Amino acid sequence: MELLLIIIPIIFIMLSQWYINSSYAKYNEYEVASGKTGAEAAKEILDANGLSNVKIVKIEGTLTDHFDPRTNTVSLSNDIYSGSSVAAVAVAAHECGHVIQHKEKYAPIVIRSALVPVVNIASKLGYAIMVAGVLASIFNMALIGLILMCATLIFQLVTLPTEFDASNRAKKQLVKLGIITKKELSNVSSMLYAAAMTYLASFFASFAQMLRLFLQINRRNN
Ligand SMILES: [Zn+2]
Repeated sequence: MELLLIIIPIIFIMLSQWYINSSYAKYNEYEVASGKTGAEAAKEILDANGLSNVKIVKIEGTLTDHFDPRTNTVSLSNDIYSGSSVAAVAVAAHECGHVIQHKEKYAPIVIRSALVPVVNIASKLGYAIMVAGVLASIFNMALIGLILMCATLIFQLVTLPTEFDASNRAKKQLVKLGIITKKELSNVSSMLYAAAMTYLASFFASFAQMLRLFLQINRRNN
């Protein structure tokens, strides 16, 4: 059982990595008919939503794209920024989806942002309490530590609707602004779906890890 809780998440993580990498490679080759680059798509979406004050910058790496609400900046990786592929406009629009979520105070992203500092403290403190509890053979103490560590799980759980919603907003904006055609929409969907799967795999892996720790603590108690 415990071995399965290690092996299955690893397989799941590897599959999701393979899925996103192969989808990215594929949709990086498909040029959009409008010829718009990721940066242009992002600019158009932000402008159309009254968010012209948000900066769009180019960053290093592959799929390192993100929106930072503290600096109000959408960072796009080289290929996404300059490319005019399905992958480029899809990822750029997805990040703009997060910007719109912040503007509209979309509940899961508000909760997610509020959770960041709590999760950092709770997971570190929880781990220390759990280890101390195990070493001192105090079952309840170890369990309290583990419950605190589950804050990470809650964080990953609220990340899921945030990601799917950002992708839905991205697709709507891309079609509405004529950056992609209706025919190109299914490819954009596939690309964004593959990206979302990595978050689902991470959540599943964390869940399996918590379950495994619980079984170990429980076994020591008996
Ligand atoms: Zn996202």
